[in-house]
Amino acid sequence: MGFKIIEIKAPTGYSDTELKHQIGKQLHLTEFTWQIENKSLDARKKNNIHWLLRIAVHSKSPGGQEPEPFTPLDIPYKPRNKRVIITGSGPAGFFAAIVLQKAGFDTILLERGADVAKRAQGIRGFEKIGTFSPVANYAFGEGGAGTFSDGKLTSRSKHISRERDFFISSYIDAGAPAEIRYMAYPHVGSDNLRVVVKNLRDTYLQHGGEFRFETMLNDLATEKGRVTEAITGNESITGDYFIIAPGHSAYETYRMLMARGVQFRTKNFAIGCRAEHRQEEINRAQWGIGKLDGVKAAEYRLTSEADGKHPVYSFCMCPGGMVVPAATYAHLNIVNGMSNYRRNGLFANAGCVAGIHPDQLAGLSVTPLEALQWLEDLEHSFYEFSGGYSAPFCTISDFIHGKEPRDIPETSYPLGLKPAPLWNMLPTVVTHALREGLKDFDRRLRGYGNGILLGLESKTSSPIQALREKNGLCTGFENLFLAGEGSGYAGGIVSSAADGIKIAMNIIEQ
Ligand SMILES: Cc1cc2nc3c(=O)[nH]c(=O)nc-3n(C[C@H](O)[C@H](O)[C@H](O)COP(=O)(O)OP(=O)(O)OC[C@H]3O[C@@H](n4cnc5c(N)ncnc54)[C@H](O)[C@@H]3O)c2cc1C
Repeated sequence: MGFKIIEIKAPTGYSDTELKHQIGKQLHLTEFTWQIENKSLDARKKNNIHWLLRIAVHSKSPGGQEPEPFTPLDIPYKPRNKRVIITGSGPAGFFAAIVLQKAGFDTILLERGADVAKRAQGIRGFEKIGTFSPVANYAFGEGGAGTFSDGKLTSRSKHISRERDFFISSYIDAGAPAEIRYMAYPHVGSDNLRVVVKNLRDTYLQHGGEFRFETMLNDLATEKGRVTEAITGNESITGDYFIIAPGHSAYETYRMLMARGVQFRTKNFAIGCRAEHRQEEINRAQWGIGKLDGVKAAEYRLTSEADGKHPVYSFCMCPGGMVVPAATYAHLNIVNGMSNYRRNGLFANAGCVAGIHPDQLAGLSVTPLEALQWLEDLEHSFYEFSGGYSAPFCTISDFIHGKEPRDIPETSYPLGLKPAPLWNMLPTVVTHALREGLKDFDRRLRGYGNGILLGLESKTSSPIQALREKNGLCTGFENLFLAGEGSGYAGGIVSSAADGIKIAMNIIEQ
């Protein structure tokens, strides 16, 4: 038989021995090796929930199919005597740096935040006593915004198979669970991510890369369309190429780039709240039972459309996870979600957001600079309302009916809830769209309406996008690249890493 791909339905609590037996029976084989290529849960019928597995089977018997050819990313090495300064150690910046370092460039990675151990300490402190750290928070620090996340590695982009493969292999080599290669909805978990990020750093250092923590890029020196120096708090660093991968939270970095002539335009993005439910309630809605052998926790993905104009959708669901205080600056208050690998917390959370253009939010046509200011002001208004970092909240039913919440429910959010008229704190157009969407979600997922909403969820994607050439160069510059989520061309861990890798490969091929 040689090689064959087969599809198998397996009960949720199957063991490897049972699976092997099933494969042998189906193919009439006794000696073979096998490997899962894809694994997804089929929960369409609650009385027959099972895994769907696509499995590659190899045996010595003749015949069978040809494996699909796949060319992995080829990073050609040669000594290049060229220096690349990369800003931002999130997935985009880090993967650009490691690819270039492996190709023979001298790279320096600048990161405004702390290394992952110090960052974890800072976040723990914040969640215990509410003292915000500018170098150790959910957005800034080693590994970027993705480090203290759920580590979902889904990506809708179809043109990044080589980059994705490189990313996934690097993550597995650095300690991520091997199943991320084949799960339909892979996730690493925040606990594993901390280890992965540290091991990736070690690999980068072993290849000769230079990592500078708590080093903020404050400015760029430019000369006739070329960047000549990256200016940090205490030095100016010369380079041949400059990659900036700052994520979409670094407001002052965006403003500095605009002041240095990097061109941006406004684009659609999304804002709203984070919905929280008891995980058991979501399990019952999706599976008909509170627990399912062999599956960690039920997920949901919901989409709707308000008035045929505004998409409303759930975003970044964290089953068995925690809503986290994701403030990026001391004067702002926003929330996000994370979970550990086992996804065994009591609660499920997910963004519930309305897609919108900054012009619609502001009620007039705004420049990229004004769009950022508008967003920062909204994030600040949530901070002002709370007088800190407790999360303004109401129940989903309160939000729909415009009724002030009375009781404070149990929550995973560590810094407390503050009853709030969230429907008045969001722009009218967003409130209207969310109300329609929430009603629809409640019709489609039993018990959804029993959840609560915490605000503000404003970091689903960037409201602005850089003007870039095909090779990723910032329009009007010869050696400046803007990568990842901050460029407005990527969103999420995988697509941001892929964007960084693509930009690195473009530099290699120049
Ligand atoms: C709590 C949370 C949970 C998330 N969960 C998921 C998930 O499960 N799956 C998923 O795909 N996505 C998730 N995301 C989104 C994901 O993390 C981002 O899309 C991704 O990290 C973007 O990568 P990036 O490299 O472009 O930017 P970032 O990861 O934001 O990294 C940018 C880095 O640049 C640094 N920086 C910024 N400005 C400067 C400067 N001037 N000088 C020096 N350094 C600078 C920052 O400190 C930061 O480390 C989550 C985000 C958060 C906050």
